[in-house]
Amino acid sequence: MIDIGYLFAAMAFIFALKLMNSPLTAKKGNRVAMIGMAVALVVTLFAPSIKPQNFMWIGVGLAIGFVGGYFPAKRVQMTAIPQMVALLNGLGGGAVALVALFEFLEANHLGHTGASVQSVTTVLSAIIGSISFAGSMIAFGKLQEILPGRPIGFKGQQGFNLALVIFITALSLAMLAFGQTNVALFIALLGASLVLGLTAVMPIGGADMPVVISLLNSFTGCAAGLAGFVLNNNALLIGGGLVGASGFILTLQMCVAMNRSLGNVLFSGMGSIVASTGDPTKPQKQPKSYSPEDVAILLSNANSVVIVPGYGMAVAQAQHQAKELAGKLMAMGVDVKYAVHPVAGRMPGHMNVLLAEADVPYEQLYELEQINPLFPETDVVLVVGANDVVNPAARYDKTSPIYGMPILDVDKARTVIVSKRSMNPGFAGVENELFLNDNTVMVFGNAKTTIAKISTALDQY
Ligand code: NDP
Repeated sequence: MIDIGYLFAAMAFIFALKLMNSPLTAKKGNRVAMIGMAVALVVTLFAPSIKPQNFMWIGVGLAIGFVGGYFPAKRVQMTAIPQMVALLNGLGGGAVALVALFEFLEANHLGHTGASVQSVTTVLSAIIGSISFAGSMIAFGKLQEILPGRPIGFKGQQGFNLALVIFITALSLAMLAFGQTNVALFIALLGASLVLGLTAVMPIGGADMPVVISLLNSFTGCAAGLAGFVLNNNALLIGGGLVGASGFILTLQMCVAMNRSLGNVLFSGMGSIVASTGDPTKPQKQPKSYSPEDVAILLSNANSVVIVPGYGMAVAQAQHQAKELAGKLMAMGVDVKYAVHPVAGRMPGHMNVLLAEADVPYEQLYELEQINPLFPETDVVLVVGANDVVNPAARYDKTSPIYGMPILDVDKARTVIVSKRSMNPGFAGVENELFLNDNTVMVFGNAKTTIAKISTALDQY
């Protein structure tokens, strides 16, 4: 019965992943995964290895887990989801490392000290779980701005990390070859892996943290899968395998969408780049600044409008105002589309989630490849808090950190309206020439207030 329960849980996890492929069914996917996890937890309580005297401790653990997970998840802002994922992922990694430690102590106690599948997986889950825990805590600290977001490093850091990797490998091999009886060595292994987690993630810029979190998530999945071997638990094995594989695919997809290799994300220290302020001796071109009322006139004269949401829309929570504005335009006979860039915002699917939350019909969302050919025939593009994903320099400026990233070609539309608060750069820290183009007008201010004002002004037309 326990294995049937685990099989059900595994099927629920796979089905949930499938449902999460579309924003329309993602919530349902989450619920299916929750049911799968609940079944896995309940049937585990009937496992012969769980002694009734342990129920109290299990109850205490469940209560702490419930309170620690439910309330923060209820209150968290959408923009703070990446750091929440980092924290939860780190705790998962830490839990796996602790399981490995106690399994090691128990194996020692029972005298099972030779090299076996159990001992190899114990050592591996201790290493990967510790790296994931420490790395995720740094990622959390950077995104929560407890730590500076810029790359933090010291001279020879990569050499130091390489030495640590060699040390950890040598220690693991020695332990497995000579029998794992030495508790001090195991603690040293955990300690070295924790240090590696810290020193590997610290030199990565805060802006690359979503990719790192996705990779660490994949690590935690692998560590949990290995713990499934250690504990002979099929649900953990399958669930961990799924997280490991899907986390890795997501990591690679994010890299492709940014046109960067995983190595570049992990080792280039991007984020330390200081935005160029141009040549101060040359007169600087000034952007054209319009009021929301002027923008309303522009929009009222358009036949086709494409709305481009970005990170700023998420910060301002302006999706409802954007939808309201789009509704008014459509009622006036204007063709309205939304262009969603795969890495707009700070996490994969960020814009899809926000627009789905505002009940924007899915048919109005266009992906990069679909919308780019349509820009030259578009009257007005309304950019709401996006910056890097519409920066034309990505197409030609080889010195730009975003060179090669596929962008939304909004500059090819007849008129571009950009709603943001200032001329400040976005995540990549680079200036955006789009804002100074002749066919671009800026409407400065918080996106939520600005879009609401445009919407109100549109009522006159
Ligand atoms: P950007 O970070 O490039 O720009 C966002 C802009 O929003 C800023 O320039 C800011 O300008 C503006 N903004 C901030 N707050 C507000 C507000 N309250 N009202 C109005 N505007 C506001 O965002 P994009 O979405 O264009 O690009 C995302 C970037 O994140 C890309 O470089 C991508 O590579 C990166 N990234 C994305 C990941 C993902 O999975 N989505 C993962 C990792 C990185 P101002 O301060 O002037 O208002």
